Amino acid sequence: MLNVVDRQMRLALWLSASALLALCVWLGWQWWHGEDRSHEPLTWQVLAPPADLPMRPWNVIVLHHSASRHGTTASFDRDHKKRGWDGIGYHFLIGNGVDMPAGQVDPTFRWREQREGAHAGASLLSQPFNDLGIGICLVGQFDRDEPGAYQMQRLVRLCAVLIRHVPGLSAASIIGHRDVPGKETDCPGAHLDVERIRFLVREALLTEDG
Ligand SMILES: [Zn+2]
Repeated sequence: MLNVVDRQMRLALWLSASALLALCVWLGWQWWHGEDRSHEPLTWQVLAPPADLPMRPWNVIVLHHSASRHGTTASFDRDHKKRGWDGIGYHFLIGNGVDMPAGQVDPTFRWREQREGAHAGASLLSQPFNDLGIGICLVGQFDRDEPGAYQMQRLVRLCAVLIRHVPGLSAASIIGHRDVPGKETDCPGAHLDVERIRFLVREALLTEDG
């Protein structure tokens, strides 16, 4: 009889220990990857800046890649502060599934506070693209790798929602960083086809809402 109780106790202990371990692993995973917002609906309701803040008269969307497989909003924020900027230079970051869930769209303080960007370049020619350009960065190295299908889907969706709600934007306003006059860069990489993104955004504008 004692033996049975003993065995049951041991089983209960073992089960609680396993449950505790599983909980720790799950919490660690959540902490490491941040909150997974990759399946949050991307709608204007989610993205709209505070209603009392005047919207900047945006007239262009500038696409970037991070030129790295790794990175999160927090890590780019740290890197860009080291360059002496006031924080991450982009308005939006889209994760690639390495350090940040694939397709997670993070609006940064620059979008939430309707601030100018620090993404187009430092020259006088680049300045209008910082002042009135929404900088969207996809984490990835697209000279080497293809962007992920879901990451692309979320980019198209993000552009379509912005275009629908920001008066100065259309699909033709989407450019790559390399298209900024005077900028010698191949950002957002050879595998990010901006013409195709414009095409997909036009399609989304015709078929989706939000
Ligand atoms: Zn760039």
